[in-house]
Amino acid sequence: MSGLRDRVTAVTGIGESKAKLLYKMDIITVEDLLTHFPRDYEDYRTITPIREVTLDQECVLKCRILAKPRNFHKGKFTVTQVRIGDETGQLTAVWFNQPYLMKAIVQDGTYLFRGKVQRKYNQVQLVSPAYTRLEEEADETEGIKPIYKLTAGISTKVLRNMIRKALDQFDEELVEYLPLFLRKEMELTDERYAMHHIHFPQTFEEKEWSRHRLVFDEFFIQQAALMRIRSNMEDLTEGYQLTTFQEERLLSRLPFELTTDQKTVWEDIKHDLASSGPMNRLVQGDVGSGKTVVAMMSLLAAVDNGLQGAMMAPTEVLARQHMQEAEKLLVPLGVRVGLLTGSLKASEKKEMLRRIAEGEVDVVIGTHALIQEGVEFHKLGVVITDEQHRFGVRQRVALAGKSAAPNVLVMTATPIPRTLAMILFGDMNVSVIKTMPPGRKAIKTYVVDSSYDERLYRFIRREVEAGHQAYIICPAVEENEESEAAADLKSAVQYQEYLGSQIFPDLTVGLLHGQMRPKDKDDVMERFASGEINILVSTTVVEVGVNVPNATIMMVENAERFGLAQLHQLRGRVGRGQAESYCVLKTDNPKDETRRRLKVLADSNDGFHISEEDLRLRGAGDVFGLRQHGLPDFKIANLYEDMDILRLAQKAAEQLYRERPDLKGDDVYFLREKIDRFLTQDGLLNSL
Ligand code: ADP
Ligand code: MG
Repeated sequence: MSGLRDRVTAVTGIGESKAKLLYKMDIITVEDLLTHFPRDYEDYRTITPIREVTLDQECVLKCRILAKPRNFHKGKFTVTQVRIGDETGQLTAVWFNQPYLMKAIVQDGTYLFRGKVQRKYNQVQLVSPAYTRLEEEADETEGIKPIYKLTAGISTKVLRNMIRKALDQFDEELVEYLPLFLRKEMELTDERYAMHHIHFPQTFEEKEWSRHRLVFDEFFIQQAALMRIRSNMEDLTEGYQLTTFQEERLLSRLPFELTTDQKTVWEDIKHDLASSGPMNRLVQGDVGSGKTVVAMMSLLAAVDNGLQGAMMAPTEVLARQHMQEAEKLLVPLGVRVGLLTGSLKASEKKEMLRRIAEGEVDVVIGTHALIQEGVEFHKLGVVITDEQHRFGVRQRVALAGKSAAPNVLVMTATPIPRTLAMILFGDMNVSVIKTMPPGRKAIKTYVVDSSYDERLYRFIRREVEAGHQAYIICPAVEENEESEAAADLKSAVQYQEYLGSQIFPDLTVGLLHGQMRPKDKDDVMERFASGEINILVSTTVVEVGVNVPNATIMMVENAERFGLAQLHQLRGRVGRGQAESYCVLKTDNPKDETRRRLKVLADSNDGFHISEEDLRLRGAGDVFGLRQHGLPDFKIANLYEDMDILRLAQKAAEQLYRERPDLKGDDVYFLREKIDRFLTQDGLLNSL
């Protein structure tokens, strides 16, 4: 299979200069080129004679250019106009603001046009049609044509030809890697067929079969790889079985009763811990649903059984907050709690590591520092990852790997749509906390532009005078001169200066961002939590988990820059107390689409609904930062639409390990190679 991993220059006709252009689209190898799948297709199979054209319906016309095209100006537009015709009639075709077409379209040439004929100002015109000159493409005139994502310097036509060449030349390398028993069972077309017909189908059915197979491939390799990691882990496991539960002593100290869902989740967890196999559970709970207390109870369960518990948080701020919670809830019960973060001094860290290793600490709370080399636990019985959406699969696996027999609890406030959950957590058991603690009010959410600034500042002032606090979130830390796009992003640093000196000189305006020293961050968070800071200008550091119930305003600058799920997280920082709370999403982006997206948030407080919408509107790539999760970008699979295929792939992966547990055998040779490659080069484990 090596040929496919050769550089694209191995394809006849692709030299260094074209390779350089392809590189801009991340196409480096022959395989990259072949998996640069069409983003769409154009159907040129049915050609309509001009006389039979229906107004306002897309059609394909085969016409000769009857006169020289000409450009003229109309208001702000340059209009290119040309007379075209076939045996049955004549028409005028027009394009807007593409003056170069005047030269590109050749008089007397025969073209295929694709577009809509419309009546405008009492004239019948073919408006902005796509066009292909026939003489140039003798062999691919009619039929279905692939449309690709392009880069400057490479046209659709050129790319099509490259791919056609590569398919011919490397045809033999497109070997079937799926063993027959899976391919039959799953009713999949074969690899070579799929690779050819995804690019050059004769019919749309052919394209669909091919797509089905290729989407399957992407999911299947990924699922098979995940299962392999998981089974490696489970092999190590004897399973700590927990028998003693004394959560009552914690519960009796709480100022509230658990909600029904909190109770149910706790029962799930207890059941897992008490059974012989290791726990492997995901708890999904919307922001503010009260996951922390469930985590504390789970940590206590470890301690009550003579084991240690560890909880990993994505940020220092959050780790410290959990530490405070543990000091409140666990320390009075005699639990010895330790904090392990990157900001400890070397000597402190050394001492903490020693105490963890010798079992002098029962519960360790920390950041990524927890999964670093040199962290050895005495008897780690329960492992919790909080705000999992901020970690990758590999971090989760790494933390679990610190124990000989990990009971793993993963908590996320990002309500992950089912498709994603299956990918990220595969066969984990899932518990959901849906009900909110009593007394929560919906957060009033508004989408505005900066013409509202003065009103907003007055509003913030009123809230502060009533004793409340506000967050203001900016997408960037410091203004970045290099990037024009960044120039009009409000930067946290500058904005805090401006607000502090010009707008709220009499109030305390704090600043928080990820590039600050951990100690300074803590300091700011503490001052905000204590009420000393009235207004906190921050980057998304506060996105996860931070709990300051007195804050009632969340204002987000350049809201269009954030994913909906992320905005929902940010919004969850307010509405944590009794007072009415507000979320203001500011955007000066005039696009309807942007406003529509943000409106979703104004209209709903339901995290699940919001993240489904986010997935639908933006595509999965951006929603949770798939890369961040340790997943590669999918090239063809669509996480929203292809759930059925994902299920199929998951079933197939299970069957694979049932029939070939060690991936031994001739018929899984290529498959094993693919999985190995996925695990190392493409992704999951390379930075473990
Ligand atoms: P998250 O699920 O976002 O991590 P937290 O655990 O931080 O939420 O809880 C949010 C707030 O709700 C905290 O102030 C917590 O003390 C409070 N809380 C948790 N459970 C309950 C409950 N059952 N009743 C009332 N308040 C609760
Ligand atoms: Mg939390």
